[in-house]
This record gives sequence, C-alpha cells and structure tokens, in this order.
Amino acid sequence: MEPLFLIGSKVIQTIKQQGYEAYFVGGAVRDFLLQRPVHDIDITTSAPVELIEQLFEVTVPLGKEHGTVIVRMEERSFEVTTFRSVSDGRNTLLEDLQKRDFTINAMAMNENMELIDPYDFCRDLENQLIRAVENGTERFVEDPLRMLRACRFSSQLNFEIEKKTLDAIIECRSLIEKAAVERVITEFDKLVKARSYSRGLHYLLSLGLTQHLSFLKGKEQALEDLAAMQLQNLCSLEEVWAAFLFVDQTEQELLNYLKAVKKSKSFVQQVIRLLGALNTYENSGWSNELLYEIGLENSLKLGRLLFTLQPEENHVHNEQALIRWHNELPIKSRRDLNLNGQLLVQSFQKEQGAWIEQLLVKAEKAVLAQTVANDPKELIAWLMKEREFNDEGEAFGDAVRK
Ligand code: ATP
Ligand code: MG
Repeated sequence: MEPLFLIGSKVIQTIKQQGYEAYFVGGAVRDFLLQRPVHDIDITTSAPVELIEQLFEVTVPLGKEHGTVIVRMEERSFEVTTFRSVSDGRNTLLEDLQKRDFTINAMAMNENMELIDPYDFCRDLENQLIRAVENGTERFVEDPLRMLRACRFSSQLNFEIEKKTLDAIIECRSLIEKAAVERVITEFDKLVKARSYSRGLHYLLSLGLTQHLSFLKGKEQALEDLAAMQLQNLCSLEEVWAAFLFVDQTEQELLNYLKAVKKSKSFVQQVIRLLGALNTYENSGWSNELLYEIGLENSLKLGRLLFTLQPEENHVHNEQALIRWHNELPIKSRRDLNLNGQLLVQSFQKEQGAWIEQLLVKAEKAVLAQTVANDPKELIAWLMKEREFNDEGEAFGDAVRK
C-alpha cells in the first residue's frame, strides 16, 4: 500500500476504535483508482470534529465551521470532515457522497482499500466522464465554482464533461460571477498546469464561462492561442501567465490586472520581469546584455517562453546553448566588474554622487559589448575618453542652442 494511504489507514482505525465510521473519500479514491499520484487525502467520518480534535495529538482547526479538521500523523496531513448531510439530522456516508460535486469524486474506500460505491459511480470513471451528482443545475446553483472545477478536472484527467452537466453549466454560467476570485484563480491555475489544458480551455470558451469571468472576458483570443501552444515546455506557472499575457500592454495595465486576480507580489514581479525580457528580446534579440541583466534562471525561462511562442525559431532558445552563452559572458554580475566607486572617485577626483552608478552601468555595458576589456586601467582610460567626448558634445550642443 502507498505510504500515504498506509498512514491514512491508521487515522481511520483510530477513529473506528471509538465506534465511529471513517473512510477515504473524494479525489484520493478517484486518483487511486486511476493509478494517478495521490497528494492529499480526505477522510469522511461520522465522528464530530470535537472528538477528532481530542483523539489526535496534532490537529489544525482549518474549516472547523464546515466540520473539517486537519489531522497530522507521521508528518503528513489528512483532511478529516464529518459527514456532509443532504437533510439535517441523518448523517450517513450515503448522504455525504450525494453532497459531493461530481460522480468521480463521490466514492469512498475503507482502510483496507476496498471500494464503497453505492451508486455505481465508478462507471463514469471507466467511461472517463465528468457528471454532476444528481441534478447539475441544483449543484451549480449551490456552488457555482463547481462549473470551473468540471473544466479543471477535464483538463487534469482528459475526461469529457457529460451532456446534461454541460447543459446545466450553460444554464448556470452567469453565476460564476459570484465565486470568490481566489477560488476561481486556484482552479484556473490547476487547469492551465494540467496535461490536457487545451481541452479544459476549450470547455471554458465553448461553455461561455469566460464571458462571466472578469479576468478572462475579452481575452478569448489569447485563451485560444494559449490552448494551441505547447505549454508542456514551460516549467512554471509564471511562464504560463506570461505566455497568456503576451500582448501589447503597459506595465501599469499588467500590474493592475495581476493585482485584481490577487496574485502575490513576487508572482506579479516575476511575470512582469518575464514580459519585460520578452519585450527586450523582441527589440534586440539575445545579447550579452540581456543574459547579464536577467540572469541565467530567467534566461532559461525566457528561452522556454520563446520556444513556446515561436516554436519555429527553437534553435536560438536551446537550453544548453543558453547555459554555454551565459557561462562565456565576460562578467556575470556587478561583482565581476574590475571597477568600483572608490577607484572612480580617485581617478576622476570628483565627490561621490549619482555619476558613479552611471559610470558603472556604462562600464558594465562596454565590457559586455566587448568594447573594453574588464581591466581597471583600461576601463578608467575608456571612461575618461568617453567623458571628454561627451563634454565636447555637450559644449557643442550648448553652442548650437545659443
Ligand atoms: P485535487 O485535490 O486534485 O485538487 P480533489 O477532487 O481532491 O482534487 P479537493 O478540492 O481536494 O478536490 O476536494 C476533495 C473532495 O471534496 C472532492 O473530491 C469532492 O468530493 C469534494 N469537494 C471539493 N470541493 C467541492 C465542491 N465545491 N462541491 C462539492 N464537493 C466538493
Ligand atoms: Mg484533494
């Protein structure tokens, strides 16, 4: 048995020893049956949360108001939830399963990994179908996010959404406007990260859900384009978002957009940096300066992005070629520059000021362009000459203006 299920079985046994029922349920059962990796395990039980809290040494009261508590055992977490009930009062496993979103997520398993599937939902799993439990319309009115979850599961599992469920989504689609943006983005991110993202994105588009999601409205063409790209080449969500947002937009527009979808500050910075690098690339292609400025890690991200956006030009964006190129840069960071502020002050006999940074940047660029060697004497001599030239230029400019 998989270690995670093995530890989970101990959680179930501990609860059962108190005379209550407990089962593995939901996504963990689905993924186990599909022989997919299981990352998190949900357990459903007839025991009240208070008892669960007493029973285990370490628990986290996350979502206690919904009857959920996290149980920590052997450094793993298990989400333990008291049976959800359709009607108040009679809480049973059967009722709990009926309250779940899709049939493929509404099966249970005991601690011996024996399937408990009273409604024969495993048929949908075999037929690779996403079907709302009972009445789709009612399920989506109860929680509109489920419509997005349907698209996300189709993307993760490469399953089809069943006809009546599709009709119910079309009927209820405007309700998605009510869903919390954080929950929506979590589903969208899972959808684009999954193997069959193209299928999931086409469902979003064809079901008209995009028209009711403010962050996707008007971006239908960009989504179509994204669906056609080879996103499996990308290694991070930042890269996927950059590929999605790669159209003419100002930095401020991008900032506002990403803030509105409640992305973290570091995520926003990463996407904006990547899009900035893409812009630089569009203007002047790969250069020593670009690789230096964004560093190796971002250069590799940019390479993957370009390969995804312009697959026909793949040779330039090859990972090994970029690593070699970066390795051969005359300098890789400011620390490698054989020049510093002190030397500049001594040589130019001027008080410290903003001019130092300006000259350092100038020197960096010259070394990267291989105009000057990375040698203190040569750099100072070159900078002095440049200054004379600029002073003359300025004087000339002044004369003309006068
Ligand atoms: P994954 O963990 O891979 O994202 P999952 O199916 O496990 O997928 P969770 O969000 O972890 O999804 O939820 C666990 C289970 O709880 C689901 O399989 C489903 O049975 C039930 N569930 C989750 N969200 C909802 C919802 N919005 N409505 C009804 N049931 C839900
Ligand atoms: Mg889960």
